[in-house]
Amino acid sequence: MRTYDFDLFVIGGGSGGVRAARMAAQRGARVAVAEAAELGGTCVNVGCIPKKLYSYAASYGEAFEEAAGYGWRVPPEAPQLDWSLLKSQRAREITRLNGIYGALLQNANVKLLNGWAQLLDAHTVDVDGQPFTARHILIATGGTPFVPELPGREHAVTSDGMFDLDPFPKRLLVVGGGYIACEFASIFNGLGATVTQVHRRAHVLSGFDDDVRQFVSSEMGKAGVDLMLSTEVQSITRGANGLEVMLSHGRHLEVDTVLMATGRVPNTQALGLEAAGVAVDKRGAIAVDGHYNTSVPSIYAVGDVSTSVQLTPVALAEAMVVVDALFGERRRRMDYEFIPTAVFTHPNIGTCGYSETDARAKYGKVTVFSSEFRALRHTLSGSTERTFMKLIVDTASDRVVGLHMVGADAGEIVQGFAVAMRAGATKALFDSTIGIHPTMAEEFVTMRDPVAGSMA
Ligand code: NDP
Repeated sequence: MRTYDFDLFVIGGGSGGVRAARMAAQRGARVAVAEAAELGGTCVNVGCIPKKLYSYAASYGEAFEEAAGYGWRVPPEAPQLDWSLLKSQRAREITRLNGIYGALLQNANVKLLNGWAQLLDAHTVDVDGQPFTARHILIATGGTPFVPELPGREHAVTSDGMFDLDPFPKRLLVVGGGYIACEFASIFNGLGATVTQVHRRAHVLSGFDDDVRQFVSSEMGKAGVDLMLSTEVQSITRGANGLEVMLSHGRHLEVDTVLMATGRVPNTQALGLEAAGVAVDKRGAIAVDGHYNTSVPSIYAVGDVSTSVQLTPVALAEAMVVVDALFGERRRRMDYEFIPTAVFTHPNIGTCGYSETDARAKYGKVTVFSSEFRALRHTLSGSTERTFMKLIVDTASDRVVGLHMVGADAGEIVQGFAVAMRAGATKALFDSTIGIHPTMAEEFVTMRDPVAGSMA
C-alpha cells in the first residue's frame, strides 16, 4: 500500500480549512495546512469579525444621540470617532484571533506550512518548492472580491481595503446592493461618513424577501444613506478634490473613496487545478458532488471556493461533513434548507427560510403575517427607527417556512427561531409559545391576523 506524508492536506487556513484540519487531527489523522497569509481567512481578517466590530463602533454613534431621551446629560459637542484608534483596536483583536487559530492547530498536532500551495497531481501538493504527498487533499481557499471592468476601476477599493483606509473617508460611494454593500454603507454612515450607495437594480439585496428589501432601504435612507437605485457607475477619475464618479442618467458625484462591493469570486488561480485534473463549474467555482468530492476522487473542496452559499458557518458545516466521511463513522449530506443568515445593516436583517415569492413558488398556497412597529426602546430615544417582522406559513401543513426581521439584534433573535423552523414548527406551535415581555422577539409568537389577501 502506498504511504503518504499526510492523511489530509488542507490548502487554505480559513474557517473551513482550519475546522477540517483540527477535527481530522483530533480523530487521529496526520494533517497539514498550507496558508500563505494570516490564519483565519476572509472571516477573521477582512470579513465577518472586523465588519462586526466596526458595526458595533457605528452603533455607539446612534446610542450617544439617543441617550439624551433617557435623561443622560449629553455634552453639546457630539463625541468624535478616533478612526486611528478604532483601526488599531481592531488590528489588535484580529492578531489575537490569528494567534488563537495557530494555537488550535498546534494543539491538535496539525503541521502548519506558511506558503503558497499548488497541486502537482491527485496526491501531491507543492508548497513553495517543497512537495508533500497526502491520501486526501481538501481545497478551502475561499473567495476574493470581484470588480467589474470599468474605466477608472483602479481608483476603487474593495471590502479588503476598507478596514485600514487612511484617512477616514468623509465622502464614501458604495457600489452594489448585496450583503457587503449594504453593510458597509450602513456602518460607514454610522461612523460619520456621508454615504451614497449606488445599485443597478430597483431594490437592494436580491433574493431577500421583497418587503424586507423595501423596508431596510427605507430605514437605511432615514439613517442617512443616500441610496441611488437603478443607477450604474460609468467611470471613476481622480480630480483635484477627490474621485469624480460619472453615473448613468448623466449624474455625477465627488467622493473620497469608492467601494466596489459587486460580488466575490472563488480563489482558484495558481492552485494547479488543471495539473491535477480538478474541474470547475460554470461560475468558475470548484465543481463538487454532494459529498464535496471534486472530479478527482482524492481531492475535496469546501466553502467559498466551491459553494454558492458563501457563509462562514456553511463552510464549517461542509468541513465537518468531509471530516466525518473520511475519518469519522458516517457519510452524510448537508441540508441547505432553512439556513439562517443576518445582514449587519443598521438596523440588522435576520432571516430564515423562504421569501414570500420563493415560498409561493415552492408551496403554492401560503399565509403571510407581518408586523411593523416602533420598538419600546425608541419611545424615549427619539429615534424614528421602526422594526419589521414577517412570517410565511405553508397553508397546507401550517409549517412556518419563512421568518424575516429588520430591527435591532435581528441576527440574535432569528438564530433561535431557526432551530424551531428546522424542527418543522407550525404556526400553531408559534401561537402556543409564550412570549418574553417586553421584547421585540415576542412579536413573532403573537402575530394572529394574516395580511389581508395573503392567503391566495
Ligand atoms: P452579493 O452577491 O451579495 O452582492 C453583489 C452585489 O453586486 C449585488 O447587488 C449585485 O447586483 C452587484 N453587482 C454584481 N456585479 C455587478 C456589476 N457588474 N455592476 C454593478 N453591480 C454589480 O455579494 P457580496 O460581495 O455583497 O457578498 C458575497 C457573499 O458573501 C454574500 O452573498 C454572502 O453570502 C457573503 N456575506 C455574508 C455576510 C453576512 O453573513 N452578514 C456579510 C458579507 C458577505 P445584482 O443584485 O443585480 O446581482
